Amino acid sequence: GDKVFFLTGTDEHGTKLFNMAKKEGIEPIEVADRHADRYKVLTGALDISNDDFIRTTEERHKRGAQKLWLELKAKGDIYKAKYAGLYCSGCEAYVLEKDLIDGKCPNHKIAPEYLEEENYFFRLSKYSDKIRELIESDELLILPSARKNEMLNIIGEGLTDVSFSRPKKSLPWGIDVPDDPNHVMYVWCDALSNYITALDYEGAIGEERGNRGALFRQFWPADVHLIGKDILRFHAGIWIGMLLSARLKIPRAIYVHGFITSEGQKMSKTLGNVVDPFDVISKYGVDAVRYYLIREIPTTLDGDFSRARFETLYNTELANNFGNLVNRAFSMTEKYFALKIPAGNVSVECKKAIAYAKKTWSENIEKFDLKAAIEAALALSDFGNRYVEEKKPWKLAKENTESLKNVIVDLLEIVKNLGEMLKIFMPKTADKILSAFQTDGMIKIPSVLFPKLRP
Ligand SMILES: [Zn+2]
Repeated sequence: GDKVFFLTGTDEHGTKLFNMAKKEGIEPIEVADRHADRYKVLTGALDISNDDFIRTTEERHKRGAQKLWLELKAKGDIYKAKYAGLYCSGCEAYVLEKDLIDGKCPNHKIAPEYLEEENYFFRLSKYSDKIRELIESDELLILPSARKNEMLNIIGEGLTDVSFSRPKKSLPWGIDVPDDPNHVMYVWCDALSNYITALDYEGAIGEERGNRGALFRQFWPADVHLIGKDILRFHAGIWIGMLLSARLKIPRAIYVHGFITSEGQKMSKTLGNVVDPFDVISKYGVDAVRYYLIREIPTTLDGDFSRARFETLYNTELANNFGNLVNRAFSMTEKYFALKIPAGNVSVECKKAIAYAKKTWSENIEKFDLKAAIEAALALSDFGNRYVEEKKPWKLAKENTESLKNVIVDLLEIVKNLGEMLKIFMPKTADKILSAFQTDGMIKIPSVLFPKLRP
C-alpha cells in the first residue's frame, strides 16, 4: 500500500487552558501536560496507530509556527490595529453580538468577555475569494457536502481579517510573536500550523536545510484533515488563508465528523452522563468499542452512545455473527479434518459474495464512509452463517465427504477475507483470525473472539 503518515496531538495554548490553570493555582504547562498524557494513554488504549503526536508547546512546533508567522509577515499579510469586541474563551475567537443568545455564546453557554486591545491582524479578507473558489470547485474538498455548504455560507459576503495575536499582559500563555516580545500568537494561528510543524516545515524551508524537512517534502499537502464539526471554519477559512499567503499547498480534503451524545443527551458533567472511554474499553475490550463507534455512529453525523444499544450490537453482531462464523469454521475444520485446511477450490457462489463485499468495502473506505465499509464485512459474515445453515455440513459429514470438504474450504476463505477486511477496524480481532491460518496448512484455533454478554 501507500506510505501514510497519521498525525494527532494536543492544542495547548489559549485563554481556556490559561484560566483553568489559574483556577487550580498551577502553571499552565502542568494542565497541558496532564491533558497530553491523558490523550496519549487514550490513543494507546484505543489501538490508534498514529505515527506522531504533536503538542503545540513543543519547541519544534514553536519554531515552525514562528517561521510561518514570518512568512505571512513577509507577504505583507500581517498588520497591527486596534480591536474591540467580545471574545468567547470556549470558541477561542471573537464572537458577534448578533450571534449571542441571552448574552451568551450559543455553543458554550458562557458570556463572552469584552476586549479592547491593539493586536496583530491577518489579512484573511485578501484570500476570501480564492478560498471560496477552492471550496466551490472541490479543489479543497469538504466532506460531507452539507459542511461544504455551511462553509460557503460562513464565507458569505467575504471573510474578514482576523485578530492574530494577544497582548502578553492580558494573556501570557502562548507562542511569542517573532520580533515583538509584548505579544503572543492567537491560539488558532499557532494551533493550525501543527499540521506542518510536525513534518518539520521549518527545516524544509530553512536556510541550511541539510537533511531536514524530508517529511514535509514527502507528506505535504495532507490528503485529509479529519476534524470535528465545531472547528470547520478555522480549518477551511483561516488555515487555508495562511497556506495561500505562505505560498504553500493546501490539503486535499477536510473531512468533518459529528459529536457523540450519551443516552440521547449531550455529555455533561452536570448530567453525570459522561462516558469514560477507559471504562468501556476495560469492560468490553477495545475492538468492541471501535466496532460500536464505527458501526453505530454515522461517520459524518452526530451519534449516540447507549449502553443497551452497545450490548445489543455486541451480542447480535460481534458474538452471534462474526464470532459465531469464525468459531464454526474453525471448529468444523477441527472436527472433520483434524485442523488441517482441506485442499480444494472456492465455489463460484462464495467467490462472488467475497468479491462483492470487498468491492463495497473499499469503495466506501475511499469515500470515508467507514460505517458502510464495516457493514460490508458484516454482510459477508451474515452470508457465511447462512451458507452454513443451507449446506448443513453436519449432514454432509455422514453422506458426502467431497461436498463437506468444499463447504469447509468456502467457509475458511470467507473467514480469511473477513480478517483482511476487519484489520483497519478491529486490529486485534483481525490478527486473531488471520494468525489462525498457519503456514503449514493447519488451523490454530484462537480464543473466543467475543464472549457473549450475559444480562
Ligand atoms: Zn463559544
